[in-house]
Amino acid sequence: VKDRGRNDFCFYSPLMNPNSQEEIELRADLQDAIREDSLELHYQPKVNAKTGEIVGVEALIRWDHPQKGMLRPHQFIKMAEEQGLIVSLGEWVLKRATRDAKILCERWSRVSVSVNVSVRQLVEPDFYEYVRRALLISGLDPSLLVLEVTESIFAKEIAEIEMNVQKVKEMGVKLSLDDFGTGFSSLGNLTRFSPDEIKVDKSFVDQMMSGGKELELIRTMLSIGLTMRINVVIEGVETLEQRDYLFKRGANVFQGYFYSPPVPYKELLGLMSAGF
Ligand code: C2E
Ligand code: CA
Ligand code: CA
Ligand code: CA
Repeated sequence: VKDRGRNDFCFYSPLMNPNSQEEIELRADLQDAIREDSLELHYQPKVNAKTGEIVGVEALIRWDHPQKGMLRPHQFIKMAEEQGLIVSLGEWVLKRATRDAKILCERWSRVSVSVNVSVRQLVEPDFYEYVRRALLISGLDPSLLVLEVTESIFAKEIAEIEMNVQKVKEMGVKLSLDDFGTGFSSLGNLTRFSPDEIKVDKSFVDQMMSGGKELELIRTMLSIGLTMRINVVIEGVETLEQRDYLFKRGANVFQGYFYSPPVPYKELLGLMSAGF
């Protein structure tokens, strides 16, 4: 690996095992994109159904690749994790998201920003340090930053993860368990990590009207939220019918195409002003 000077990519060389020419090139391209700041964050609102207010936004990464066009995360996140780039990528995302959120909250003071965090980041001993740095540089109130962690991946290296989670929580940062209900230890993670939020996975919403157990599981997750004082966000709501159905059963915060797809920051400002 060429020494690119500014970043610390070569520390991760033991992880690198590129298995195709395409992957080697994509990796180099991503490295350039991080360095040249040519990645983008799109934002998807989380909406309070009762008031129509946007209570928070989730940052979702996009990469406008010079040849391949706009890439979605599934086309490069896994590669970034395997090829040792997810830590640099994650740092970029945190910096950009906190900077954008700081500007948002000058006008909408309580809107939070959610950032997806890979388990590869959470096992880094200095993860909490770069969270602290991003908060410091941006000046964002730590309680307006939510870290979303996919709950199915709390497996090995649990000590490092717990340490990082505890340190970021001490800063006032919020924790969200993403894709809740799809992992092996959902209930155990509630006591172990005391999340501030759980996100009910889209797969439950997709299936809830087809007569299986999904609706009962969503209701159970809603009541866990109530009794444990954890915010519950319903993900992937696409239709008015789904929204109303869950609203009647006590759900109040929704994220999904029904309200809005993820949009570029500039469009988000328009959405924020208009509300729902
Ligand atoms: P996620 O965190 O579960 O994010 C939700 C995904 O569902 C997003 O896909 C979003 O665009 C999509 N979505 C939201 N509402 C709807 C809906 O109503 N219908 C449908 N069909 N889809 C909906 P996206 O942006 O492609 O992201 C995919 C995954 O990539 C994310 O899943 C997250 O795990 C990962 N990801 C995205 N950005 C980052 C990042 O900055 N860092 C890391 N580590 N992972 C990221
Ligand atoms: Ca997420
Ligand atoms: Ca999710
Ligand atoms: Ca998901």
